[in-house]
Amino acid sequence: MTMNRRDFVTTTGALAAASTFAGTLVFPQIARAETKKVVVVGGGTGGATAAKYLKLGDPSIDVTLIEPNKTYFTCYMSNEVLGGERDLDSIKQGYEGLKGHGVTVVHDTATGIDADKKLVTTAGGDEFPYDRCIVAPGVSMLYEKIEGYSDEVAKKIPHAWKAGEQTKILRDQLQAMDDGGTVLISAPADPFRCPPGPYERASQIAMYLQNAKPKSKVMILDSKQAFSKQGLFTQGWERLYGFGTENALIEWQPGPESAVVGVKADEMTVETSFGDEVKADVINLIPPQQAGKIAQDAGLANDSGWCPVDKKTFESSIHKGIHVIGDAAIATAMPKSGYSANSQAKVTAAAIIAMLNDEEPGIPAYVNTCYSIVGKDYGISVAAVYRLSEDGATIASVEGSGGLTPMDAPDWALAREVQYAHSWYNNIVHDIFS
Ligand SMILES: Cc1cc2nc3c(=O)[nH]c(=O)nc-3n(C[C@H](O)[C@H](O)[C@H](O)COP(=O)(O)OP(=O)(O)OC[C@H]3O[C@@H](n4cnc5c(N)ncnc54)[C@H](O)[C@@H]3O)c2cc1C
Repeated sequence: MTMNRRDFVTTTGALAAASTFAGTLVFPQIARAETKKVVVVGGGTGGATAAKYLKLGDPSIDVTLIEPNKTYFTCYMSNEVLGGERDLDSIKQGYEGLKGHGVTVVHDTATGIDADKKLVTTAGGDEFPYDRCIVAPGVSMLYEKIEGYSDEVAKKIPHAWKAGEQTKILRDQLQAMDDGGTVLISAPADPFRCPPGPYERASQIAMYLQNAKPKSKVMILDSKQAFSKQGLFTQGWERLYGFGTENALIEWQPGPESAVVGVKADEMTVETSFGDEVKADVINLIPPQQAGKIAQDAGLANDSGWCPVDKKTFESSIHKGIHVIGDAAIATAMPKSGYSANSQAKVTAAAIIAMLNDEEPGIPAYVNTCYSIVGKDYGISVAAVYRLSEDGATIASVEGSGGLTPMDAPDWALAREVQYAHSWYNNIVHDIFS
């Protein structure tokens, strides 16, 4: 009798239950079968989703998740913390849900991945052999691209591009700033984590200032000449914050002349690529980024600093047996977002289950939606469904799928987008961590 994977999983599930109840039952065929191991490096949005969905899809796989932190602060909705609309605790997630699904969660830092030996090593001195490995370390900051910037300086000049302590530093600085102060946000060149993020942040900070410190302003110094959802953002800024007028709460200065290339933390100034010195009371310096350090150390990134992958399975194009997902991966048209990471994680989990069971992975589809809350009862969004191209080389958005919030949308529609944004947040963290 031949058994397909579904029969196998169902049957082994039933056998496991039978052995639990009967206590002494022995199934030699199953007992001899070697357990397949998947090690997931990074328990953020991508890694935690993958670990959970591997277990949901095939409970017989031994899934180990390696993540240094016991709690994870989502970057999504962290701008609302800066705007004072929610507190840090409301974006804090834990790992009990994943453990409940049978994932082994190890709080440690992966320090090496040996693709030949199929082994992950950790700072704690442990070794984790794998049949397949998923690497989802997010981004690392390219401090060296900004003269005077470093991990240490970021304690005074926060990037707040990883949520948690950095978010708190920036929020505290905004609260401590005198009315009439300037908040400077430096936005990096593409590609970087969350393309609309700096502009949602400017909006949230402007909303806070409008209420608490109305003589203040937000100045965005950009490396780019255009940005995500620009028309919708600027329309929102015009309506809410006087954008383009003398008393504008938000000012935007495009690149390349406004690209920030240096910072003097003691003087609270930044230097632009055209040599101007700009002083501010609070500086939020978001540096250029690349794939997380462990991806670099393991040789998974190419010259771009990001990790090339097979678009169907997210298996590394450089090291077989290792899959890279989330912000660290090069996913062509898909933006570096939490929803993208979540979607890629599910596709990758399904592909790995197929591969470990000697089946051909299916043809994937991907999805992304990104909400930005511009002000009270004023939300905008972009959504798309993506498919693998015919030749498998790219992930392209499906024509006619998704789209943007229309320009000139009525108030009720903009208010509804905020409700959708909050509902999206509740759904995605439930999907990942519960
Ligand atoms: C301000 C802001 C707002 C955002 N808003 C949205 C939004 O509204 N919608 C949306 O979809 N996305 C949003 N994003 C983007 C989203 O947060 C990221 O795209 C998403 O977190 C990427 O997931 P990831 O798994 O690749 O990385 P992460 O979620 O950053 O996870 C990486 C994990 O890897 C761990 N790690 C790193 N190195 C190691 C190692 N060596 N060993 C073990 N573990 C390691 C880290 O501790 C971390 O937990 C926003 C981002 C920002 C900054």
